[in-house]
Amino acid sequence: MQNTPSVQVPTNNLAQNEEYEGKAKIIRVLDEQTVLVKFKDDLTAFDGVKKATKKGKGHLNAQITKILFSYLQDKGIPTHFLEQLDDTTFRARKLRMIPVEFVIRNYSAGSFVRRYGLSKGMKLKKPILELFVKSDALHDPLIDPNVAIELGFLTRDEYEKGKLYSYLINDFLSQLFDQIGLTLVDFKLEFGIDQEGTLYLGDELSPDSMRLWKKGTQKSFDKDVFREDKGEVIEAYEYVYRRLSEINDFQPSPPEFMINLSIRLKPGIVDAEGAVVKRALTRLGLTQLSEARVGKLIDLKLSATNVLKSLETFAVGRTEFLINPLIEKSEISFDV
Ligand code: UDP
Repeated sequence: MQNTPSVQVPTNNLAQNEEYEGKAKIIRVLDEQTVLVKFKDDLTAFDGVKKATKKGKGHLNAQITKILFSYLQDKGIPTHFLEQLDDTTFRARKLRMIPVEFVIRNYSAGSFVRRYGLSKGMKLKKPILELFVKSDALHDPLIDPNVAIELGFLTRDEYEKGKLYSYLINDFLSQLFDQIGLTLVDFKLEFGIDQEGTLYLGDELSPDSMRLWKKGTQKSFDKDVFREDKGEVIEAYEYVYRRLSEINDFQPSPPEFMINLSIRLKPGIVDAEGAVVKRALTRLGLTQLSEARVGKLIDLKLSATNVLKSLETFAVGRTEFLINPLIEKSEISFDV
């Protein structure tokens, strides 16, 4: 089987000055490095079946996205946001978008409740990350990360980094919304890669792409107001924008995360320790054993406000002190 992704993101194939009009935004390629992102007043739900135009929505989502991206950028999360151009438009880095959505859930709601027959509003023991294929035609199916990697939708490295950023973003945003009396229930992120191969958070962060409940209740301040006809959607978005604009230089407590590093000898390198293990296990009766190789596991717990900086420091330290690149190879994974 050839591992070629069958799911394409239309904005990945645009030439200079070409435009793509999506359900809520228009993307225009400005040059090799940048695009223009314009937020529309259109609202859609249920794969575009329910539609409306709400005056002012594009403006509110552009402003909310700008506030949240600037806040995350300040905390060391790379986002595609560059500068605001007008009320509904900003300039952003041109990215090749990964055709997979990262959804983080803190409470049960939406498709999670429907899929597993749960009651709405259960606090989850730990935030849960789910991946979905970005495809309207397939109705954005849930996908196992290993399958997504195997099918070439993203690399293991992109998945690990995307996962780490998703959990950190969740921590940073949950603390921010808590300040204004809102609970971050769940949200969707999209990542992309620039020409240098750096992973960035792309797309938007707005009440269109997250669930926000008034603390201690299930009163929605997001697209569910529109999805479920629960009132005036613009008023809900205005409330989120007004409260976010009132926050001044909020410093969240630094999130903790784990770096798990596994170090193995490269194939072909003679492993004396492995040979000892093999002999011992064979003596114990494991006679079919053809080879044993010994490696190392290093688990690091980090508390960091500027995540990117800590990772860079770590990457340098890793090659200098932890592995011998002539004979060893390392694999890195992240957790919270
Ligand atoms: N979401 C999104 N775009 C999508 C699918 C989901 O922005 O294409 C957001 C949605 O607003 C919610 C979260 O991701 O905040 C989880 O959505 P869920 O899987 O529960 O699906 P839904 O209830 O939106 O069908």
